[in-house]
Amino acid sequence: MQTTKTIFDAKTIRKDFPILQRKVHGKPLVYLDNAATSQKPRQVIEAIDNYYKNSNANIHRSIHTLGEESTEQYEKSHEKVAGFINADSYQNIVFTKNTTESLNLLAYSLTANLKKGDEIVISEMEHHSNLVPWQQLAKQRGLKLNFIEIDKEGNLSEESINKNINKKTKIVSLTHISNVLGTINPIKEIAKIAHENGAFMVVDGAQSAPHMPVDVKDLDADFYAFSGHKMLGPTGIGVLYGKKELLEVMQPFLYGGGMIREVKFDNTTFNELPWKFEAGTMNIVGGIGLGVAIDYLKKVGMKQIQNRDKELVDYAIEKLKDDKDITLYGPKERSAVVSFNVKGVHAHDVSQILDSEGVAIRAGHHCCMPLMKVMKIQATARASFYLYNTEEEVDVFIKALEKVKKMFS
Ligand code: PMP
Repeated sequence: MQTTKTIFDAKTIRKDFPILQRKVHGKPLVYLDNAATSQKPRQVIEAIDNYYKNSNANIHRSIHTLGEESTEQYEKSHEKVAGFINADSYQNIVFTKNTTESLNLLAYSLTANLKKGDEIVISEMEHHSNLVPWQQLAKQRGLKLNFIEIDKEGNLSEESINKNINKKTKIVSLTHISNVLGTINPIKEIAKIAHENGAFMVVDGAQSAPHMPVDVKDLDADFYAFSGHKMLGPTGIGVLYGKKELLEVMQPFLYGGGMIREVKFDNTTFNELPWKFEAGTMNIVGGIGLGVAIDYLKKVGMKQIQNRDKELVDYAIEKLKDDKDITLYGPKERSAVVSFNVKGVHAHDVSQILDSEGVAIRAGHHCCMPLMKVMKIQATARASFYLYNTEEEVDVFIKALEKVKKMFS
């Protein structure tokens, strides 16, 4: 874990985020629901506005100035995303709707050769979007879905990793960072085990791409999926990174305009990468907005963001850890997420009372119902931080929790 002191100033950064100026129930907004979605800086908002005002046209088809400008900006964003995660080229970068669609694409397109009895390995801490597609595929095709267990701290059990990944395993698909526990999984080591056994390594990067430097080559991930909206970008745009030799042989996920090279009445050949996987009119402005979000993140620096997350999460945990009425979940070494419960109070009530103080957190199962079952709880409250949050906001959150306790005592 990087330990250098953070040098950027959250108070200056906040000025770029118009929504952070608003009030909720007459109180300044304290937005601590960043794991669900992040807020957007004016640079991204203005890029979207500017695109529709000045460059709006369909891409890859119209031979006129607007069409060319639009295509150029959209394609440039693929290059920016490639650079952001250290992929070789824009050809490794498929734009989708979100992480969920990227993972569904794989469940459909990566699995053509799987046979009855083949095994897929995920873990107990997966988000539904990295569980349900594999589960349903397994049911339809007679595959076996195995789950790596978590230990008491909320880390993947090493023993369970070694037990579950074997020669029958064809795909290992794991979250890089848990959206409930904040656990940072050792993807590089697990990818090595997966590859030694001849399996593909799929990474759900929904919580890692926004919060840490990601190098898909260093991880040796075969595929890496993430969403624009959790990393300052617009909603409706996601990414699937894939190794070129794999994307090249995979069947397209969606068929139609844009993804073809030549269509005859009885046959179709497909476009080159990544367009083979981008059928129909895409979320053009979303792709462009994501490119601007990446410019913003790169300017601040992903290592700096990771450090800042750690400062905030450590600050919050320090304030909560000795409170007898609070149960904290997740390991010591974690990303920017603090899941907790207040003794005798349902997480939804916690969230509602915090909202009355202007503090936005999430409460519920966080799209991880099986994990809740393993943890023997119904729900957690979750505060999640990002680069624009401040220690003062953590203090407001802690003070609002005191109100929760008082109301239920
Ligand atoms: N995986 C993880 C770990 C997540 O946190 C999320 C979003 N909560 C997703 C997948 C799904 O992301 P999206 O809803 O953008 O598809």
